[in-house]
Parts: sequence; C-alpha cells; structure tokens
Amino acid sequence: MVAPAHGRIAADYDPPRTTCPLCERGPIHHRLVDFRGHTIDGCDACGVEFMNPQYSDAALQRFYAGYICLHPENAPTSHRSRPDVRMCGKGRGLDLLASLAPGRRLLMVGCGDGLELQAAKARGWSVEGFDVDPATTAKVAAEHGVPVHCGNFHELPQRTGDYDALWLDQVIEHPKDPGRYLKTCHRLLRPGGVLYLGMPNLGSLSNRLKTLADRLHLRSRPGRHYNTRHHVTFFRPGVLRTHLDQALGMEVLAVRCSPKPQKNPLVALLSRVSPWFDSSFVMVARRPIDPTTRA
Ligand SMILES: [Zn+2]
Repeated sequence: MVAPAHGRIAADYDPPRTTCPLCERGPIHHRLVDFRGHTIDGCDACGVEFMNPQYSDAALQRFYAGYICLHPENAPTSHRSRPDVRMCGKGRGLDLLASLAPGRRLLMVGCGDGLELQAAKARGWSVEGFDVDPATTAKVAAEHGVPVHCGNFHELPQRTGDYDALWLDQVIEHPKDPGRYLKTCHRLLRPGGVLYLGMPNLGSLSNRLKTLADRLHLRSRPGRHYNTRHHVTFFRPGVLRTHLDQALGMEVLAVRCSPKPQKNPLVALLSRVSPWFDSSFVMVARRPIDPTTRA
C-alpha cells in the first residue's frame, strides 16, 4: 500500500485497509498508482481491485451532495450519458429483469436523478428508490411520485425479504463496502428474488489494453480507466460471479454487455458476442428459494 499522494488532504481518506472490501479476506497486494496519486490494490483471495486508502465518509458525502444532475441543461454530453440513450438502456435492462423476476416489487438502489424510476414505473413495476443525498431523494420522490428512501442502506426499514427484484445500475463500484452491500441486497430479496447489477468492466478488452499500456509507461495519465474520482471498487465479471455464487449462494442467471446503445456499430456487434468487448457489463443473479438447493 502507498499513502495518499503528497499534497492530498488526509481527512479526505480513511486509514489504509488491510482486508478486502468484497470478501473481507486477503491477502491484498499493490497493483498501481493512478495519475491522481490513488493506489489501487488487489485481493489475492477473490481477485477484486479497490482504491486503498479509500475516501473518508465526509469526503464522499461532500462529493455526492453535488453528484446528481437533476436538470437536463447540466447533464453530461457524452453519448452514453444522453437521457435518450440512458432511458433506452434502462428499458432494455428492465425487460431482461422482467423476464427473470418472480414479481413486480422492485427497489432501485442508487436511483440518482430518477430516470430509472420513471422507466420502471412506465413498465408497470411497483417501484421504490434509494439514494444517499437527502435533498436529491426528496426532489426525485416528489417528481416521480414513488417512495425514495435515504439514509443508511444497511438499515433500510423494509421487512427482510420483501422485494421481487433489486436493481443497482452503475452503483456497486461506488460504496466502500461492496461485500456488505451485496449481503444487504441478498437480505432484502425474497427467496427466488432477482438482483440486477450493472457496472464498469475492468476485464474488458479496452481496459486490459489500457492496463498493459500503463505497465509499459505509455500513457500520460496512468490508471485513468479506473476513474477513482468516484469509483472505489473495480470488478471483472468472473470475480463478481464467483463472489455471488460462493459468498451468497446466488445463482447467476445472465451475464451481458451493457444494454445501453453503443455509438460505434462494430463495438455494438462485438459486445453482443461477448461482454468482454464492452466497457460495462450486467449480471443478474437469483436468491435461491431453498438455500440448500440451487434452482
Ligand atoms: Zn477479496
């Protein structure tokens, strides 16, 4: 592990972790330092990579208070950030979820500006949201007319096992405790309920080439593809699949490329062949009805 780079504010970072934030085991080993001076470590036990030290709670609270764009004029302008492209991706993801979930009671965790709540409501889901910033969640709840919870995700007041489906799209790479997050997701699902996870793919072809270029000192901003400005845990599909199966006893039902439309038609074609060609992936897993037997 390496201390935060010179000039950083120590209060913005936790003490360095000595165990893995996903499997809570280890050992952990240093992988690289990115251009921001953030150290990336990896877990030898489960294979996940993570920023270490991680941001402090105070730093994250400040960051997320200004994170979500509620007004279209302030929205990012990249192709995959466009509202129509996002809405199309949410719709495709929800169609996949509908084909696998046992009912229509859905909790969308990290519901952000509420666009995904709107997409789910339009498709007939009985939807609720969760996010971390109180002001934003209040506005989103009022705008879309659905319950949006806020606070500590692990202390959500819903009865254990209430939901037919949980949705975390571009979320699980953000919390400092992804292992605990996934445990809570498992608890909130009813037996037979389905968990939808979408996230950046550290194992994609483009990210593997970027990592190789970093090792050869060919890039001016090494580790930029980790995006440590707001991502702290970095998954490959195989790492997540193994964790869901072995740590939570969940059955992985689908692994796909991101359902968002691609700008490049060649990447779109290749991504349909394998999620390896896309920079993001989706995994859907089921909580077993009877934990002693897999469906
Ligand atoms: Zn681990």
